[in-house]
Amino acid sequence: MNKNAIKIIAIVLAICIAAAAGFYFGNARGITEGTAQGEAQGASQAMAARQELLDLQELNRQSIAKLQLTDGPIYVIGHKSPDSDTICSAIAYARLLQQLGFNAQPAANGAPNNESKYILKLAGADAPPVLEDASGKNIFLVDHSEYLQATAGLQDANIVGIIDHHGIGSVSTGQQVLYDARPIGATATIIWLSYLNYGQQIDKQTATLLLGAVLSDTGNLTASTVTEADKKAAPALAKIAGIDDVDALYDILHKEAISYDGMTDMEILFLDYKEYEAGGVKFGIGLLNSIDEPTSKELSARMKAILPEGFKTRDVDLMYASVGIRENGEKIDYIVPANEYSDAVFKAAFPNYNDYDGTAYIFRTPGLGRKSRFVPGLTDYLLAHPHE
Ligand code: MN
Ligand code: MN
Repeated sequence: MNKNAIKIIAIVLAICIAAAAGFYFGNARGITEGTAQGEAQGASQAMAARQELLDLQELNRQSIAKLQLTDGPIYVIGHKSPDSDTICSAIAYARLLQQLGFNAQPAANGAPNNESKYILKLAGADAPPVLEDASGKNIFLVDHSEYLQATAGLQDANIVGIIDHHGIGSVSTGQQVLYDARPIGATATIIWLSYLNYGQQIDKQTATLLLGAVLSDTGNLTASTVTEADKKAAPALAKIAGIDDVDALYDILHKEAISYDGMTDMEILFLDYKEYEAGGVKFGIGLLNSIDEPTSKELSARMKAILPEGFKTRDVDLMYASVGIRENGEKIDYIVPANEYSDAVFKAAFPNYNDYDGTAYIFRTPGLGRKSRFVPGLTDYLLAHPHE
């Protein structure tokens, strides 16, 4: 091959390589540009969505700017015989109000139970101070809306708002209030949603408190009242709280909830006790937690022995103890009436019990949950059959 031929081949090769390279890089540039364009479009959509969320959160904050306040702080407080949802929600919601610029502080209607004490200790939080008299004060109710379950003096208080997951109670006010009640597993879940809706950070301590309350009120997300929101709240809160094993935490809480160490039977009856009124009849229900049916029978017998005496200490027409087991999706409730009248009304209102053992009426899964079935059923019955 002569030099010219080599030269020509070299030139042709160079042109081919250049063309191929040009094609390749050109094409690659095209792909890159396309991706970048797509990314830019995706990013701007994400930014728009983000801005919409921020705008919505700002609107939510603006919507509570005119809370009707009198002098002094807003006391955030739950019901009498406080449970973990009441105690933890009071602290968490007071903190949210503080973050939103309000002068708020948590309060309580009594000392925390063993389970709540454990949650408070785990979170490194103090029990809310007891508020003896609500009159003349700014009061924000959590986990109830019933005068019979509330702090003394509530009729003369300035009610600012209510966050709840029960039926509508007797509490009433003519002025504008923040009222957020939902058919959901725990007040604490509504408060978790509130933090999101107002665009507020949840600190580790608050997340621990809210998680404990959700697990407690929902029986580790097994209660009939549980919603998707409760199921999302628990892992989200556990992540912030740095708690890896939520089931293990619930096991401890459950053990605390069923431990009545150092308590008299009368104290056990009134530990988780609530009063209601319907059709002019006042009734009280004390909840007890049990671990198995032999324990339920034993606790029922102990309650039957002291209920007539306990009944005399309260201004009610009917009284019951409800001993419940919640385990592996099973819910078994033993209902013990305090006297003959309580017994007669109960049998008439709930003829569909599974068993009666001479002491207690027994309801198997789904049980006779106080909030979900017992109170609504008794209320319906009493409204249809008013007390003479
Ligand atoms: Mn409660
Ligand atoms: Mn609750």
